[in-house]
Amino acid sequence: EGPARKDTVCVAGLGVSGAAAARVLARDGHRVVVVETGDGPRQRAAAAELQAEGVEVRFGGGLPPEAGLVVTSPGWRPDTPLLTEAAGRGVEVIGEVELAWRRRPAGAAPWLALTGTNGKTTAVRMLTAMLTAAGYDAAAVGNVGTPVVEAVADKHDVLAVELSSFQLHWSATLAPHAAAVLNVADDHIDWHGSLEEYARVKGRVFERAGVVVYNAGDEISTRLAAPYLERSGVRAVGFTLGVPGPGMLGVVEDLLVDRAFTGDPATQAEELATLADVRPFAPHNVANALAAAALARAYGVPPDAVRRGLAEYVPDPHRIALVARVGEVDYVDDSKATNPHAAAASLASYLSVVWVAGGLLKGADVDDLVRGAAGRLRGAVLIGADRERIRQALARHAADVPVVEVPGQDTGVMDRVVAEAARLAAPGDTVLLAPAGASMDMFVNYGARGDAFAAAVGRLAAGAATGA
Ligand code: ADP
Repeated sequence: EGPARKDTVCVAGLGVSGAAAARVLARDGHRVVVVETGDGPRQRAAAAELQAEGVEVRFGGGLPPEAGLVVTSPGWRPDTPLLTEAAGRGVEVIGEVELAWRRRPAGAAPWLALTGTNGKTTAVRMLTAMLTAAGYDAAAVGNVGTPVVEAVADKHDVLAVELSSFQLHWSATLAPHAAAVLNVADDHIDWHGSLEEYARVKGRVFERAGVVVYNAGDEISTRLAAPYLERSGVRAVGFTLGVPGPGMLGVVEDLLVDRAFTGDPATQAEELATLADVRPFAPHNVANALAAAALARAYGVPPDAVRRGLAEYVPDPHRIALVARVGEVDYVDDSKATNPHAAAASLASYLSVVWVAGGLLKGADVDDLVRGAAGRLRGAVLIGADRERIRQALARHAADVPVVEVPGQDTGVMDRVVAEAARLAAPGDTVLLAPAGASMDMFVNYGARGDAFAAAVGRLAAGAATGA
């Protein structure tokens, strides 16, 4: 398949995936015109590299009249003028992931695809570790960082593909060997227009999958899988944090077990791993491990490789990472909790928490989050642009919880945050950075926010050690 004639292709947006798509298309012999709206040093540098490979780059401007196909950056909204122009002229618009799918060579590696509001990167890395432990040459690609369009040309046995809702929006024909939807909650509604539309796009990952993996503990994931429960040629497999029924994966006492890919699921449950194999330990990471295990098992990975994969999995930073224990208080960095659903999972992982929260809420509602966590809160320290909205929700649902606001953008903010949190915490508590919002009001990204927190905890620990 692929673009049949060597037409001119317009690549909209010069991000990581756009640059990869442009390069691959140029090598295929297409004339490629990249249109980029930004004009900073990063874009100029990326443009120079592509121009050296014969790709034309324009800063601004509409759809080139000769373009027969548009490959868009996942972040571009459908109402961006260039894309509405393409729609109006009947020019097909796809994303880099769809392009990758269409360009797969014959006999190419099958895809194990995974999406969800939260837990994608964790689950995809667990899955890759399981596949590797089983002896396959596997790669984690897509939204984790490596453009899929580059990976499909490499000689892998199988690809673990992380897909965002944006990528799925621009992908119409993907047919993964197996696909999972971890969970669906309020996020990116500004882009998709409504939760309904966001959920519908997530559900696309199931449309042509051979095995459909859903989270029985998540209402929307379960609803998205419903049409496939009785469909011939498709297998639907649920996972649960409880005891699994036949055809599902779940937890029995301290074991992760499989009742789907065993000899006789009606009677047999096969042990995959123990809860202690899940690191960092938290209920949401058990869910991620079960989703990864379901995809791995759908591909034929044996139970012992599921366990070895979990043992060898290296957690990514800023995801419930223990920074230090100072004076019998644990300081945990979950800066990647950039929406309320993630922060809720994070807070549910600890019994008594001093919660460090704030940032950009992107219009999301925090009332459910605060109501659910109220019983676990020792106190809260609030930062960033939308801290006032969190303070109001705390006043409504957790009026007796002490709250400290730390205003400001300066480099000393995190030192004040950590000092206030230390003052509120009692021995045995966890001080948890789980902001529920994005970081860009104060930091370059969530990583920089987590690093600033960890550095301030480091200074607190040093002070405690010297008695300062
Ligand atoms: P993503 O790639 O979808 O952003 P990550 O694996 O990077 O997901 O995890 C992001 C954050 O989401 C974590 O730091 C944690 O707070 C939260 N989280 C992880 N897994 C889950 C899950 N299964 N359900 C709810 N929240 C989760």
